[in-house]
Amino acid sequence: MHCPFCSAVDTKVIDSRLVSEGNHVRRRRECITCEERFTTYESAELVMPKIVKQDGTREPFNEDKLLAGLTKALEKRPVSVEKVEEAINRIKATIRATGEREIPSRDVGEQVMKELRELDEVAFVRFASVYRSFKDLNEFREEIDRFSKDSSS
Ligand SMILES: [Zn+2]
Repeated sequence: MHCPFCSAVDTKVIDSRLVSEGNHVRRRRECITCEERFTTYESAELVMPKIVKQDGTREPFNEDKLLAGLTKALEKRPVSVEKVEEAINRIKATIRATGEREIPSRDVGEQVMKELRELDEVAFVRFASVYRSFKDLNEFREEIDRFSKDSSS
């Protein structure tokens, strides 16, 4: 993103929010060179950040993969397809709203856990146990306590 005032290449995002039902991101930017501020609108598809995996490799955000993960955790659980779609949309909106170009896969996992916690306790535990590969049961309990606190506050 070039600065429209001085054409400098380096600009920073100072504010980022979703507009028009989450399909666009409005960003306030500031030029690092001349300090002028301006606004950009970007379509949501373009601004999905890349996912940084634990081994440091990057991959594009993949909604199918997200859906597969949720579906697996929710197997034979009484949760409607609509609820799952809503959860996915919320996860995507949260990821977009960060305004980051890259986010750790762990952050996506955290969002999934937060949504599953709301949808279905069993699915949450299933997902969390696979995702986290906890060293022991205590660590796992602590994690569940942490999420319980988060969602009740
Ligand atoms: Zn400038």
